[in-house]
Amino acid sequence: MADPANSTSSPFDLVILGAGSGGYACALRASQLGLTVALVEEDKIGGTCLHRGCIPTKALLHAAELADGARAGASHGILTTFEGIDTVALHARKDKVISQLYKGLTGLIGQAGIEVVTGRGRLVDASTVEVDGEGGTTRLSAKTVVLATGSYAKTIPGVELGPRVMTSDQAMDLAQIPQRVAVLGGGVIGVEFASMLRSFGAEVTIVEALDRIVAAEEPSISKHLTREFKKRKITALTSTRVASVEADDQRAVVHLESGDPLEVDLVLVAVGRGPRSEGLGLEDAGVTVDRGFVPTDDRLRTNVEGVRAVGDLVPGLQLAHRGFAHGIFVAEDIAGLDPTPIDDVIIPKVTYCDPEIASVGLTSEAAKGAGKDVETVVYPLGGNGRSIIRGTTGSVTLIREKDGPVLGVHMVGLGVSELISEAQLAVGWEAHPEDIAPLVHAHPSQGEAFGEAAMLAAGRPLHAHA
Ligand SMILES: Cc1cc2nc3c(=O)[nH]c(=O)nc-3n(C[C@H](O)[C@H](O)[C@H](O)COP(=O)(O)OP(=O)(O)OC[C@H]3O[C@@H](n4cnc5c(N)ncnc54)[C@H](O)[C@@H]3O)c2cc1C
Repeated sequence: MADPANSTSSPFDLVILGAGSGGYACALRASQLGLTVALVEEDKIGGTCLHRGCIPTKALLHAAELADGARAGASHGILTTFEGIDTVALHARKDKVISQLYKGLTGLIGQAGIEVVTGRGRLVDASTVEVDGEGGTTRLSAKTVVLATGSYAKTIPGVELGPRVMTSDQAMDLAQIPQRVAVLGGGVIGVEFASMLRSFGAEVTIVEALDRIVAAEEPSISKHLTREFKKRKITALTSTRVASVEADDQRAVVHLESGDPLEVDLVLVAVGRGPRSEGLGLEDAGVTVDRGFVPTDDRLRTNVEGVRAVGDLVPGLQLAHRGFAHGIFVAEDIAGLDPTPIDDVIIPKVTYCDPEIASVGLTSEAAKGAGKDVETVVYPLGGNGRSIIRGTTGSVTLIREKDGPVLGVHMVGLGVSELISEAQLAVGWEAHPEDIAPLVHAHPSQGEAFGEAAMLAAGRPLHAHA
């Protein structure tokens, strides 16, 4: 091991490796609680979510919604036309949103007195992190080390990235909207990009190996999304595997194991995200690694005392707000506040395609698998005034335990992302539909659809039949 050129022996209460959603949330909460913190980051504070994930994609998806609004203007009596996409202005707007949030975040971190150490870190042992930065190597000693190095975009073995074959990292900044796109993978990132690129004018084909897109959701949601995508001329080839991809600077051809090859201008590889644990020195420090992920107990402790892990590196949902929750939990646990462990089941999930998907809690299959006696009601958005005004269809599916609490809520339709907060309170607080049914929902709002689903489940429907 190289002798550290620079070193600091001051022991921090916490040294956090990675300043994405999990790492920076942990740092901020720990400093509020009076702990001393060093935050190690090799790139930019904010991580995937702020720079290459949630925020840029949602800025682009908002622009996509405006493009569709311009197309739909005439049907509402507004004289608009869709002329095309100015990608320079598109990215300038997206980048402005990122910069504003980045400025706010770096300001918060600075004011909190967190020591930011720039460079690539690795674990030397349970209480020592070595950082290779521009000024040389620094050693930081810590009472607790938090691993928060996140995830990277996976590719398909044998498929090389290039000007016509990209992951979401590069597709975020397309200089031109391609005419024909193949999206490999029909999960969250795949369907969000498919939806966005279609709104921007591309012809889109999704290739998915499983028998349905968004396979982690209720089957009825996959069915609805497939139908709505079809109306938007987005093709979803399910139960279809990619054999190989050929590409040059001008075009790409996706060869499938069955069916005709797809000749396209862009291939977006969206086959999931893998853990960023290589080169972190985990094995040397004795930290157990499972297919690259770092398993933890419910208090986010690894097998090595004094080493915790948070966010995408920990097996489970890969979501920014799970990272935040993990980070806060670890800070509070170390500070002795005895916080409640984070359960993935009550973490809300939103997919921002058109139509949107929002869900929380158990699917009907998982609820039955857990031995629950389950009742399911479906309230269609076709009965909800605000949804009709907005021109969307879809539904709120509420799953309850017979005579018991709400176990899961699964929604699809434009605007349902904003209904998830109430649904998550219901599931998180184990509310019974009978508790929710008497609560008055504003009219006309899409939130009424959730209220109506609860009324239906409680056996006292208004705009539906029991
Ligand atoms: C296209 C896309 C869209 C997404 N949309 C959403 C969404 O809408 N909502 C949502 O909740 N989630 C979304 N996500 C997922 C979300 O971005 C991640 O769940 C979240 O960023 C995970 O946070 P993290 O802290 O675990 O890791 P990351 O955010 O990946 O942060 C890890 C940080 O560690 C740094 N790092 C890694 N190794 C080292 C090292 N050795 N030394 C120093 N620094 C290191 C990295 O540079 C990085 O900054 C999206 C992801 C993508 C790719």
